Amino acid sequence: MRDDLAIIIVAAGRGTRAGGGEPKQWRALGGMAVLERTLAAFVGLGRICLAVHPDDMGRALDLVRGRAVLVAGGASRDASVRAALACLEGSGVGRVLIHDGARPLVSPALIGRVVAALDGHEGAAPALAVSDALWEGAEGRVTGARPREGLFRAQTPQGFRFPAILQAHRAHPGGAADDVEVALAAGLDVAIVEGEEENIKLTWPGDFDRAERIIGMTDLRLGNGYDVHAFCEGDHVTLCGVKVAHDRGLLGHSDADVAMHALTDAIYGALAEGDIGRHFPPSDPQWKGAASEIFLAHAAGLARAQGYRLANADLTIVCERPKIGPHAQAMQAELARILGVEAGRISVKATTSERLGFTGREEGIAALATAALVRA
Ligand code: MG
Repeated sequence: MRDDLAIIIVAAGRGTRAGGGEPKQWRALGGMAVLERTLAAFVGLGRICLAVHPDDMGRALDLVRGRAVLVAGGASRDASVRAALACLEGSGVGRVLIHDGARPLVSPALIGRVVAALDGHEGAAPALAVSDALWEGAEGRVTGARPREGLFRAQTPQGFRFPAILQAHRAHPGGAADDVEVALAAGLDVAIVEGEEENIKLTWPGDFDRAERIIGMTDLRLGNGYDVHAFCEGDHVTLCGVKVAHDRGLLGHSDADVAMHALTDAIYGALAEGDIGRHFPPSDPQWKGAASEIFLAHAAGLARAQGYRLANADLTIVCERPKIGPHAQAMQAELARILGVEAGRISVKATTSERLGFTGREEGIAALATAALVRA
């Protein structure tokens, strides 16, 4: 926390263009209020002042839980900012970041760039250079084209030296689109720092879908799996769907593919969907001697149905014999085929247990697996 840094979050608007029947900053995004996400992005960086509509004071109090000071916002954005600046006046604040409550996906890196730029400038704000062609249009037709060189899409947080922006707001007649416009009117020097595409302002109904997708990319689910099968009479074992000649077989209800079972359970685990036994009860005779590919394909299908894809899986087979190394590549390819992913996302490796324990005594084979699922 920097003692002289304050953050103003502007969330007093009544904007319902985003749909959902209530102001967008109070709508849920990925199971959490938009404003809760925005607030969380700044907690710990400095003192926070949250400008909300007077009607929202009650729920804002529940939301902030002591993490921010509340200010009643005004009828316009700049009136809300002025009220918050006035609230911070005289508290020793040297720099202030002013941020839209409806930009919940702001990253720590972006905030850091704005704060760092304030060392050399009176103001600093993130923006993205315009890359699309720009047109003029009317009544559904293109009526002209404009050069895009030197044009930027402005974002927040916009940072300023506190006394300078306080004075600039007091001198401004009102109606500015953002605080940089107010700063420019007062002749302040404002640096542009690199913005981020993900730092979207939730305005239209589709923006919520896009924000959900961006959040989804970070919804990582991990699962682990472990399985053991004992050796029995036989002339081969099946591991990761590959038949490996051996002087014994593996005992089991299905084809006893201990490695594939561990991986299948890792995927079920990542989904919090139990294990193979829940989906394919051993008491059911139809799975007797079944190829374990059925189980793995089922787990992968369940992941897809719930909106996840396999990011990677790592499998370790524990045995003294048979040697796994010569077959590892074929095993990797077979698992990748069943899962429908590139082979590079699947790792198959093996270890002995230094002749210790049941695997060391060659009583059976154990396997461990980890699977990572991400939002598709
Ligand atoms: Mg098993």
